[in-house]
Amino acid sequence: MNAENFSNILEQPDELVTVNTGKVLFSNQIFEIRLDYRLRPPWMVLDNSKRFIYISKLFQPVKGDVLAWLCKDGRKYPAVVRQSGKIIFNFDIEQTITRILREQYLAKKRPLMSRLPFHHHRFPASVRVWVLKTLNKLKQGKVVFPSWPADNSVDLLRFMFMQAFQLVSKEQLKKTKKWPLDVKSIVCLSHDVDTIDAARNIEKVAFIEEEFNLKSTWFITGNKLSQSKKTLNYLHDNGNEIALHGHNHDFKLPFLKIEEIEQRLKIYRVYMEDYNMTGFRSPGMLRTTELLKVLATYFRYDSTFVDTERYSFTTPGEGCCTVFPFNVGPLLEIPVTLPMDISLAVAGLSEQQMLELWLRKIRLIKQIGGVAVLNTHTDSHLSAQPSMLKIYQKLLDTISQDKSLKVATLNKVAGYWKRRDED
Ligand SMILES: [Zn+2]
Repeated sequence: MNAENFSNILEQPDELVTVNTGKVLFSNQIFEIRLDYRLRPPWMVLDNSKRFIYISKLFQPVKGDVLAWLCKDGRKYPAVVRQSGKIIFNFDIEQTITRILREQYLAKKRPLMSRLPFHHHRFPASVRVWVLKTLNKLKQGKVVFPSWPADNSVDLLRFMFMQAFQLVSKEQLKKTKKWPLDVKSIVCLSHDVDTIDAARNIEKVAFIEEEFNLKSTWFITGNKLSQSKKTLNYLHDNGNEIALHGHNHDFKLPFLKIEEIEQRLKIYRVYMEDYNMTGFRSPGMLRTTELLKVLATYFRYDSTFVDTERYSFTTPGEGCCTVFPFNVGPLLEIPVTLPMDISLAVAGLSEQQMLELWLRKIRLIKQIGGVAVLNTHTDSHLSAQPSMLKIYQKLLDTISQDKSLKVATLNKVAGYWKRRDED
């Protein structure tokens, strides 16, 4: 039995683990989740803080030995129960996971920034950051799901399911080996190059990576490709990955008609071939079904989703809540799982605090066994500042000393993920 695909388990004839199919009590609601020690993953920190989760359907609960509770408005509902040698989930776990991964727990709004009649870069960066900080102060405390800076709801639900199965079954679940060698977890270093200024700073960051002999993935805005050719050739020739970051970073791409999205991407066919591009990241991390559909015909993977976001211009409150790649149709999605430099700047963190947060989250992702994807911007006011370069150097120093971590480009991760069942 494969531990990753639990639909196999659900379809078992002896039905050791089943999902309640009774009357629906709640649909599309956020609950506080409380887990019994038997279902609690070792990586769940016992910080006593409340954990909230989106649940697509909670059924009229079947009673039994309760392994997990869902709580709302002062009432507790048995979420997972054990009853005469069987486990019953009182909520629709498969649909919940699918909806969280697809971010269907929220009513997505097209951000105002994508509707401006002029390019958003015409506002100075300092003004953009100030506006965001102000807006964030107004919103603080209202969002409980996804939590930030980490939300592993999907990984938690999968763990609960496997653990529940293991409690009642004699069969041992086969653990899939995800990563090569004795590696516990992967770190991907990636950079979004949005502006001419950012393109000019590429080398400053690349030199630090060279010092540690680490390879990274560079997402370049299409209309900056021609000006950066020399640098990009150098990076590419030295084993780094070049990937596409949309056309002109005006935030409109995901909201265009399918034919218009195609037109914007087609321009870069030659570059895609020259640099063997297999990956894409959408400007502003903006994602729509239409965009993902087109991307599947051009690229092997996309890295536009974030596991959780609270402070960005364009996608606050969104997230797929997992630190593992997943499929969106034929396209592999490798989510960004470390908070972005720009988001942390807006959150008001000092550079030292950013470093500490990144390292803390890498430790968590390592315990879960997922992929830590960092996305920094090489603009002069962000990760190319001398003080931020020092922080980056410290980060790479710590990562490269940890032998249980492997640093790889996103394209390599897409390869590992595809091969994991074949090994
Ligand atoms: Zn960008």
